[in-house]
Order: sequence, then structure tokens, then C-alpha cells
Amino acid sequence: MCNALALTVGSLPASKTHKSGRRWAFLPSSDLASPSLGTLTIVQSKRDTVSYSVAVEDHQVLFAKADGSEVYGVNLKAGRPVRCSCTGFHFAKKCKHLDAAVEMIADGVLDVCHA
Ligand SMILES: [Zn+2]
Repeated sequence: MCNALALTVGSLPASKTHKSGRRWAFLPSSDLASPSLGTLTIVQSKRDTVSYSVAVEDHQVLFAKADGSEVYGVNLKAGRPVRCSCTGFHFAKKCKHLDAAVEMIADGVLDVCHA
């Protein structure tokens, strides 16, 4: 076990549409049998809050929406997030998934050594 089962929170850099207050929270999963490492909540505003189940596999950080409707993959290169599969990244070359992956790796929440 690398991570204690504690909530980790952090902030995200401002984006074009959300100037301030962007933040994230990560709660590690207690279910070791599950491929999910835990639940990430990204808050961009009061009305824009979304939770993902996070997994690391095959050089990607996977963000799966709680209802299973969407899965986004942030590609890693030498342990650094380089691109995301979502449409936001496709157009803007940045997105909240990539921002969150950068922050979680910097905080040591995500272990990408073996990704
Ligand atoms: Zn994305």
C-alpha cells in the first residue's frame, strides 16, 4: 500500500472559462480487488462538479464517469501527462483531466512509476 486512505485535495490552475476556484479531491479506494485507485472529484464551479473513478494502466490515467457513460484517457510519457482523449483537449489542447492528472502525480496521489 502506497497511499493511506485519506482524502487529498488540491487546486487547479485557472482556465479560460473558470478563472479561479478550480479544485480537486481524491479519495483512495479501499477495495484492493478493484482496478479503480479511487474517486476523483473535479470542481470547476458550484454547478460544474464531476466525479470519476480513476485507474492507471497501459501508460494512461483513465477517468471513468461514475455512471459509466464516459471514459477519458490521459496519456503519459515518461510519467508526465501529455494528452487527453476528451473533446475539450482535442480543441483546446488542455482540459481538466490533464490538469488533474498533473496535480495528482505532483502530489504523489497517483503512482505512475509502473504505468
Ligand atoms: Zn480531458
